[in-house]
Amino acid sequence: MRRIQVVATGGTIASRAGAEGRRATVLAKELLASVGPLPADAEVSVRDVLTRGSYAFDTADLLALAREVRGALREGADAVVMTHGTDTMEETAFLFDLAFGDPRPIVLTGAQRPFDDRAADGPANLGDALAVAAADAARGHGPLLVFDGFAFPARGVRKSDTMSAHAFTVPGRGPALRVTDRLVTPLWRPSPSPRFPLDLDLPRLPRVDVVPVYPGADGLFIRSSLAAGAAGVVVEAVGAGNAGPELVEAVAEAVAAGHPVLICSRVHSGPVAPLYAGGGAELQRVGAVFAGDLSPWQARLLLAVASAVPGRSPEALVRAWLAGDDPLSGSGA
Ligand code: ASP
Repeated sequence: MRRIQVVATGGTIASRAGAEGRRATVLAKELLASVGPLPADAEVSVRDVLTRGSYAFDTADLLALAREVRGALREGADAVVMTHGTDTMEETAFLFDLAFGDPRPIVLTGAQRPFDDRAADGPANLGDALAVAAADAARGHGPLLVFDGFAFPARGVRKSDTMSAHAFTVPGRGPALRVTDRLVTPLWRPSPSPRFPLDLDLPRLPRVDVVPVYPGADGLFIRSSLAAGAAGVVVEAVGAGNAGPELVEAVAEAVAAGHPVLICSRVHSGPVAPLYAGGGAELQRVGAVFAGDLSPWQARLLLAVASAVPGRSPEALVRAWLAGDDPLSGSGA
């Protein structure tokens, strides 16, 4: 008998229409009752942690959700399924990827259409998430995001459509498992991300801001962010990781003052690289870190988590993690 812990946090899957707009009100028990037959040989228990839209979460909430997962695993659950808003599900999934090295499935799911919609997609997604949680094929994948018949690895997953039921993609890689009629078929096995030494009992993560690049973007947002106390900044660069001269100058100042700067792209797919004179090549020369194909939103969490490790260089920890090394065993000094 597999013990699956369902943790509900709100989102569209739990929302009903109201005079002021959609609002999450449906609790875990009712969500589970909407699913139909549960996986054979599974004992499913439910818990409500938050009942909110994920657009309203801050890093204190994300850490609280991670503590729920830790608690369920410590209590002996064989798998955890979390229902969650789609807007920031890629961030929560990635934080779990950084924090947990456990082979037991941690599965996030949600919906694009609300609970009271005639064509609600939540019940099918939750049913699929439970099937994945109960499947041997899902063990050792790291956290998975189950949506519209597929299970996506946490690292690299992005919400890529605002409305469609097929809301998520992993650009350049694709889903790890397919779910058809609750039958789970492996597609490919992502190599596990190195775990991060993260203290889940922190009240919140250090501030890290994402700064966009566009024609005419200057250093204002980087300087303001650091003045507001940011530990570091993620630049959502153009193309393969470029920015104009004024913004590059602010990056150089930030790095010289000891604040790590990560470079990602506003382009949906593909890695960044220091290719262009005065652009990416200059960003590398002044000490910015190129963050592979991580989205700015996942890179922001990586840098925030690294900045929360006491007595270690966040930049060294990030570089080790991006290289696929265990940040715990590297020098990271
Ligand atoms: N659109 C979102 C959802 O699908 C709202 C949220 O992120 O909570 O749940």
